[in-house]
Amino acid sequence: MASGSYRNGTPKPMKLDRASSYSYTTPKPTAKTRGSVGGGTGVRRSSPAALTARDDAGVLGRVRVAVRLRPQNSEELASDADFADCVELQPEVKRLKLRKNNWESETYEFDEVLTESASQKRVYEVVAKPVVESVLEGYNGTVMAYGQTGTGKTFTLGKLGEDNIAARGIMVRAMEDILAETSPSTDSVSVSYFQLYMETVQDLLCPGNDNISIVEDPKSGDVSIPAATAVDIRDQTSFLELLRLGEAHRFAANTKLNTESSRSHAILMVHVKRSIKGRHDGEEGFLTENGQASSLVKSFRPPIVRKSKLVIVDLAGSERIDKSGSEGHMLEEAKSINLSLTALGKCINALAENSTHVPFRDSKLTRLLRDSFGGTARTSLVVTIGPSPRHRGETSSTIMFGQRAMKVQNMIKLKEEFDYKSLCRRLDIEVDKLISENERQQKYFEDEIERVKAEAQNWISEVERKYMISLENERLKYQQDYMDSIKKLEEKWTINQQKSNYQKSWDCNNEGYLDDGEISMPSTSGGINDKQLLQNEKILRQSSEDEVSSLKSQVTQLKRLESAANAEILKLHEMLESEAHQKEKLEEEINILKNKLLQLSFEADESRRSLDRGGSGKVFAGLDTFMSQARSSQIRDRTNGQKASIAKLFEQVGLQKILSLLESEDADVRIHAVKVVANLAAEEANQEKIVEAGGLSSLLILLRSSEDETIRRVAAGAIANLAMNETNQELVMAQDGISLLSMTAADAEDPQTLRMVAGAIANLCGNDRVQRRLRSEGGIRALLGMVRCGHPDVLAQIARGIANFAKCESRASTQGNDTGRSLLIEDGALPWIVQNANNEASPIRRHIELALCHLAQHEVNAKDMISEGALWELVRISRDCSREDIRLLAHKTLTASPKFQAELRRLRIEC
Ligand code: ADP
Ligand code: MG
Repeated sequence: MASGSYRNGTPKPMKLDRASSYSYTTPKPTAKTRGSVGGGTGVRRSSPAALTARDDAGVLGRVRVAVRLRPQNSEELASDADFADCVELQPEVKRLKLRKNNWESETYEFDEVLTESASQKRVYEVVAKPVVESVLEGYNGTVMAYGQTGTGKTFTLGKLGEDNIAARGIMVRAMEDILAETSPSTDSVSVSYFQLYMETVQDLLCPGNDNISIVEDPKSGDVSIPAATAVDIRDQTSFLELLRLGEAHRFAANTKLNTESSRSHAILMVHVKRSIKGRHDGEEGFLTENGQASSLVKSFRPPIVRKSKLVIVDLAGSERIDKSGSEGHMLEEAKSINLSLTALGKCINALAENSTHVPFRDSKLTRLLRDSFGGTARTSLVVTIGPSPRHRGETSSTIMFGQRAMKVQNMIKLKEEFDYKSLCRRLDIEVDKLISENERQQKYFEDEIERVKAEAQNWISEVERKYMISLENERLKYQQDYMDSIKKLEEKWTINQQKSNYQKSWDCNNEGYLDDGEISMPSTSGGINDKQLLQNEKILRQSSEDEVSSLKSQVTQLKRLESAANAEILKLHEMLESEAHQKEKLEEEINILKNKLLQLSFEADESRRSLDRGGSGKVFAGLDTFMSQARSSQIRDRTNGQKASIAKLFEQVGLQKILSLLESEDADVRIHAVKVVANLAAEEANQEKIVEAGGLSSLLILLRSSEDETIRRVAAGAIANLAMNETNQELVMAQDGISLLSMTAADAEDPQTLRMVAGAIANLCGNDRVQRRLRSEGGIRALLGMVRCGHPDVLAQIARGIANFAKCESRASTQGNDTGRSLLIEDGALPWIVQNANNEASPIRRHIELALCHLAQHEVNAKDMISEGALWELVRISRDCSREDIRLLAHKTLTASPKFQAELRRLRIEC
């Protein structure tokens, strides 16, 4: 290339972006712009601050690359004096000229060109500050230095500036900005620091921790190092202390391994978690199914947190290590260092060329940096070069690396989520409070009742005692009176007796000479006495009667007292009953709270799922998310040592209780219950328990009997999840599940329900043992019937079912079982298969292609395949299919079949 022409990693001159400062360009998010250099037509620019709008799809942001030239050191000053400068910088136009020889040079353009006199402050401001600001706004960010050993990577990133604060590097300045912008009361900042040496991750904050694993979330692709020590940072002094400690450990580790720090990659990871107050995007997320926000839910609205991380990577020296002289450990080391850096170079090349495969998994470094290149992070790279002409080769390869990295586009995404964990904690505390308040009240009422009972008992016994005493007294008095009156009567009787004796004797003495009139005297005085006595008797009787009636009235009064005491006891009983009623009401309230908690937990999972969902077009995303969500929750559990809230509730409420709610009268409760069951069914560990407890039957019944589309959709999803395992597939069949699924397939309208039903049948299709019954009970026809829906996700599941079925059939025929003509062909699937063999949706196409290959393996199918046109599709697949394995399989099948061969020969077609 002639001198003065511009290059940017390709032979074509690069389009110059005059206005491009070191800010982030955000081209329109179309797939075509991916990989193109920022600054072309249709390019929109936005400062990082403009990226605050919440956008699940993210915005495109190119990797920004700056080049920094180290000043000559004393050695270079002395020895390079005779040589012409190797590089010439033109910072004002952001270009760098690399001299090839005296008459030829090449010019490259970067996002920023930093001369040997550029200050550390300026380097921070143009390279790292936009990334740090964006991390504070909730995006992931990466700052990385690449270059030959001795060109200033560590100087740029890791300089502590203890003697001279102007010399502080990017790590120190970044933390200063982060600490200034965050508040310890609402936000948290933590730091991990580790090095990667010979494909081993070593914790620089805890040296014993020297072989840590890198963990990837299979769903979100998030990479983390959960076992690395994470230290909370509250002030700059403790951060500096930590960096010093890390450096000391790095030095010690490298001495022990007999290497230099230039051979290892040092990685600082800063995790920033910020609470966002007073911002809720609409209330929809918090509505109950009937569209009303419950007061409880309103008062427990989950806070929003933004969790982002800043990764600062000081890479190992990029110079080629001469392998010829290396042996043993040195050779291994050379390979490993080269392995990581070579893998990084390959990934960047693949991304720059927009290749479909990026070999991230080739090394630990590239696994770690997956999010930084082609991921969701905002990334800045500083490539460092030295001025010495003697290292022209290394300088040139460093520049080319930077040029290629400039072509990498990231899809920058906000890392924002609802903080359901803290909401759950709050609800837990609230439920605990209510329970203990209820217990306290119950205890108080029980004590009170005991006390009143004891009081009443005492009172009654006191009254009884008094009553007995007065009764006894009365009895004694009567007895005494009675004795007295008997005594008196006896005395009288004796007197009367004496009188009568006297009268008799007197009568005897005067017998014959006394006239009447005189003899009446004594009898007259005796009559007066009798009257008197009678009178006395009467008075006595009267007083006794009075006494009796007074005693009677006393008894009545005592009885009245007794009945008053009884009334009091009755009142106390009533109080007891009303307290019991109150307790029941409190228990009901607790149940409602628990249900709400279930609902919130489920909605939390759904929100997280929808946040995680990367756009449309994913095959069977529902099930995938169920499964991966279960997996990610397991990872979370391991990481945090906390139980997932659903699992906790599952334990607290009990599976039977949750399953019984599936039959609740209340439609809302049914919906929540089926969602919870579906969520539980997504975890493999729960599936057996659910099936054992009769959950599968309940779900199948619900699928048939429910009118509600949500219930049917969620129930079908849960069944599809349960039907992923072979034992459950047989159980589904045994419980007449295929006819229930077929009936739903025939009358459901909602594509999502159909997708779940098709997914469940597709799973059953892959089980050899249930195949025949599935077909005889109309499973294949039901699957084909769903074609009417036309939704690509449903069609993909149908195609998957057909492929599974065909695979089982071909397996049976290769094992020597004579299966006869394919049941798929018998049931009329072939025309649809042929029609969709070249469907533009790749998941449908792939399954159909496989199904055709499987069908073709059994010679009895050949005749129908030829007459229905399937042979042509096979020929096409064997030639054009982009998947090599399928292409080869189609080719092998075609050549193995005598009938196909004969037909192709007849038509003079070569295969
Ligand atoms: P690397 O990490 O790339 O191996 P270093 O950061 O250790 O390189 O730098 C090598 C030497 O050069 C160190 O002594 C460092 O202080 C010095 N150095 C690097 N860059 C600069 C610069 N921009 N200004 C002054 N000295 C620098
Ligand atoms: Mg270094």
